[in-house]
Amino acid sequence: MQAPVLHAPRERLAVEDLEIDEPEAGEVRIKMAASGVCHSCLYPWTGEAQGVKTPMVLGDEGAGVVEKVGPGVDSVKPGDRVVISWVPNCGRCHFCVVGRPVLCDLRGRNPSRLRLDGQEVANFGGVATYGSYTVVQASQAVVIPDAMPLEKAALIGCSVMTGVGSVLNTAKVEAGESLAVFGCGGVGLNAVQGGRIAGAHPLIAVDVADNKLEYARQLGATHLVNAGRENPLDAIQRLTGRGVDYAVVAVGDTRVQAQAYEAISRGGTLVVVGMAQSGELTINSRAPLVMQERCIKGSCYGSARPREDFLRLVNLYLNGTLKIDELITKTYSIEEATEAFEDLEKGLLARGLIVF
Ligand SMILES: [Zn+2]
Ligand SMILES: [Zn+2]
Repeated sequence: MQAPVLHAPRERLAVEDLEIDEPEAGEVRIKMAASGVCHSCLYPWTGEAQGVKTPMVLGDEGAGVVEKVGPGVDSVKPGDRVVISWVPNCGRCHFCVVGRPVLCDLRGRNPSRLRLDGQEVANFGGVATYGSYTVVQASQAVVIPDAMPLEKAALIGCSVMTGVGSVLNTAKVEAGESLAVFGCGGVGLNAVQGGRIAGAHPLIAVDVADNKLEYARQLGATHLVNAGRENPLDAIQRLTGRGVDYAVVAVGDTRVQAQAYEAISRGGTLVVVGMAQSGELTINSRAPLVMQERCIKGSCYGSARPREDFLRLVNLYLNGTLKIDELITKTYSIEEATEAFEDLEKGLLARGLIVF
């Protein structure tokens, strides 16, 4: 198999020939069709992420075709078209049983099946979707219908699920409630379209980049606030009269997260999606948590139940409600993974897509 391999930050990701193991019991090997270019993979490349093991194959959202299954696998078979979930589910632990499989005990325990000249190569997110093949747990391969194009399905595996799910699953926004989304990258734009699907109004997008705000408008934002030119708290007060019912923050900056807390109404909910690279989240005491019944929630992977939610998202794409084509700004070959990161860093992409 081939993959662009990360050896050191900022080094060009040269495509190398790797060995990949046979799938073991409970595992499947997938021939990749497409993989989205996610911010969480950008940070290991820029050097901003902590504790990155190298060499490593990056990539956390993708789709492909099952090539081979290991012993005991009966949930998928060779030839099945699948979206990869970066969270394996055991189906038996407390969190799986209560319907919160993103919190499964198995999280983060996916061994790498990749080697380069005999040396183990780390698999980002346990899935390493930038490789031409990957080995994952069978529970991470969610079968989708033939009508769903794999190149579009790839994005469901991380950014679409994380963003749309933060609104529909974590926040549970209802029709006519107000929502502000802070940060309009790949995940934030999908939170915006989650708001559109839920029927949120006003649906306010906040960013400092006009091109990203324009993407947000195309995905359903009713009001755009450029936080570089205007205080978003003032704008949200003006638009809602009392603050928003929900704010979703899809940036890792804790100052923005604290600001978004100020933007919610009494009884409102702040949903934090962006992983902070550093900094503590400090809440201003003028907005008391108790007396105003404000709520702060973390949202991991859009509180996904991958087997159920990926198929719902496929259905929403097929009936024209969920926009994915519009999210894909540019496609790249695996040889161009470095250019994809450079474009992402420059803020040029709603989403980049590596196509095999
Ligand atoms: Zn991701
Ligand atoms: Zn579990």
